[in-house]
Amino acid sequence: MATVRASCPGCGDVETTTDAVQVLRCETTGSLAYSFVCPECRLRVAKEATERVASILVDAGVPVVDWELPAELEEPKVGYPICHDDLLAFHASMAEPGWLELQVSVLRGVERGI
Ligand SMILES: [Zn+2]
Repeated sequence: MATVRASCPGCGDVETTTDAVQVLRCETTGSLAYSFVCPECRLRVAKEATERVASILVDAGVPVVDWELPAELEEPKVGYPICHDDLLAFHASMAEPGWLELQVSVLRGVERGI
């Protein structure tokens, strides 16, 4: 297990070990990153990595984790993006008596094709 010097946004330069680091390879875009749990604050830090940095980490024994962008990103979007006012209106509507029961009945109607 080798020592890795890294930088945490909150703690600055820290030393960790290869077993606390992982190389992240996005199969969709080919982008590389690495992440580690900061030994000082215990938060996970993720940073972009060049091919050279990723290669050095992998050669030192850091595991590679492959991941893909979620398929939902490819779904067609309709309507306007949700804005702050929409969230406030949604929040207020949830406080109305019977809101949850109404939503459940609507969903059940959709399931039955009503
Ligand atoms: Zn930290």
